[in-house]
Amino acid sequence: MQRQIGELVIECVHGDITRQADIDIIVNAANKQLKGGGGVDGAINRAAGPELVKASRALAPIEAGQAVITEAFELPNDWVVHCVGPVYSQKPEVPKQLAACYRNALALAEDKQAGSIAFPAISAGIYGYPLDEAGAIAVQTVAERAREAVSIEHVRFVLFSEDVLAAFSEALSELS
Ligand code: ADP
Repeated sequence: MQRQIGELVIECVHGDITRQADIDIIVNAANKQLKGGGGVDGAINRAAGPELVKASRALAPIEAGQAVITEAFELPNDWVVHCVGPVYSQKPEVPKQLAACYRNALALAEDKQAGSIAFPAISAGIYGYPLDEAGAIAVQTVAERAREAVSIEHVRFVLFSEDVLAAFSEALSELS
């Protein structure tokens, strides 16, 4: 599933975020201590090698919604943005924190004048966000930010399972 929004191409693919060699920056769904973990965080740290967690831990702690950037070490990308998504709950700040992850990651990518960035489904794994809501927030926030984007031309959502791919693809197709 792919859409062009202004100058920006947004796509949803099924795959592994550690294998996106044509993308400048990949985004990690990290924890507040930036100390490595399971899920996508574990996969990114395994692929990047032990230097990544040393670099990210030096920038910890961060709060839900915040993002920091490090080198990508053995990954085939230039940089890794480490975001902390919110743990899902009914608290009103939760959707705002999830949107802030995507906005802050894009701002860091723009600072590096990157052309492309790949996101996983932040908060949609262990942190329990319902897939349709996580997809809608992700896609809408990226599309809004596209109006201000200067360097970024390509945003790829890399979804690890069919149900997450379906939820994000539907959100992208519903974008007006
Ligand atoms: P969170 O704690 O923010 O919920 P998780 O890592 O538990 O983060 O899950 C976020 C999403 O990343 C889930 O949809 C999970 O299936 C997915 N995921 C796990 N491994 C990978 C990977 N290698 N590439 C892309 N997505 C992945």
